[in-house]
Amino acid sequence: MAVGGELLTSALAGIAFIGCAMTNAAAAPPAPGAGQGRRREVVVNGKRVKTVDIHAHCIVPEAAAVINHPLEAPGLLWSNLSDRIAEMDAEGIDVEALSINPYWYRAERDAAAELIKVQNEKLAEFCAGAPDRFVAFATVALQHPDLAVEQLEHAIKRLGLRGLSVGGSVAGQELADPKFHPVWAKAEELGILIFLHPLGTRELEPSGRLKGSGLLTNTIGNPLETTIALSHLIFEGTLDRFPGLKICAAHGGGYLPSYANRSDAVITTFPNRVGPLPKKKPTQYLKDGQLYFDTIMFTAEAMRHLIAEAGIGQIMIGTDYPFPWNRVPVDHIMSIPGLSDDERIAILGGTAAKLLGIEV
Ligand SMILES: [Zn+2]
Repeated sequence: MAVGGELLTSALAGIAFIGCAMTNAAAAPPAPGAGQGRRREVVVNGKRVKTVDIHAHCIVPEAAAVINHPLEAPGLLWSNLSDRIAEMDAEGIDVEALSINPYWYRAERDAAAELIKVQNEKLAEFCAGAPDRFVAFATVALQHPDLAVEQLEHAIKRLGLRGLSVGGSVAGQELADPKFHPVWAKAEELGILIFLHPLGTRELEPSGRLKGSGLLTNTIGNPLETTIALSHLIFEGTLDRFPGLKICAAHGGGYLPSYANRSDAVITTFPNRVGPLPKKKPTQYLKDGQLYFDTIMFTAEAMRHLIAEAGIGQIMIGTDYPFPWNRVPVDHIMSIPGLSDDERIAILGGTAAKLLGIEV
């Protein structure tokens, strides 16, 4: 979707304050030896591959200001664009699909409407300023589903955003709650990809069980929330109700793919505790084109298993920028044993390009 000249102009004005060198870096990669380091061009069997990072964070300060939300990590900010581009270049990431972790799910309606309006417009402007390096997922106020439907349609059709980012739950409510059905229906109608990023398991925090060393709210809380969210989408029939829904779950889908067969086994072990039955075996939902997974895993063996559970076509490279879980995301994909060139290309960017409408 084209973004108007006015938006483009204001986008360029919006990033101009960071300085010419940085603006140039956004418009065109620095030449080798130009002081910002060489851009790594990923080549597989002689073919230049456009890599697409499905999991890259940012924040829009003007939107956060609407509800006085703190700005968290400096790496999330636009003003660090030169660092972001330099890191993308060094890592071999050509395009980032930007998403914002929802912090507005408890905001009342008017504030949420204003926040999302500002946020989606700024995302669109920013991407228009460097369209060869960035696309973005729309944000919506899921806690007000009717408003979210309007926001999503506007963001995709009018602002040119490429998908929808959501949390793993909405102020304590599951994504599988029927109140969100209108949003999934709209996403299905628009044919867009949803990026699901967990927000931790806030409900466990009052118990204190995640306190102490190890940042357990994130280390295990995040993958746990994703596991809960996906499991409800399967067992509550949401994926059956919306067969065209496409959801990419962060962090390799949390713990679900590593223990998915237990979800099949519960149907025979405790048959009176499951129902209505999902149309397919739970493990089948990992493979059938509705669920996708990023590559924020930590070993080639973990990737091999994720691929065995979900299939090559369901997996897209992610970095979690600016959080340095893995500084060599491309090498991580190259290290997975036994893949064909085409399979590596699909993970590195082919699948994401198709789902996000990025030219390769
Ligand atoms: Zn993340």
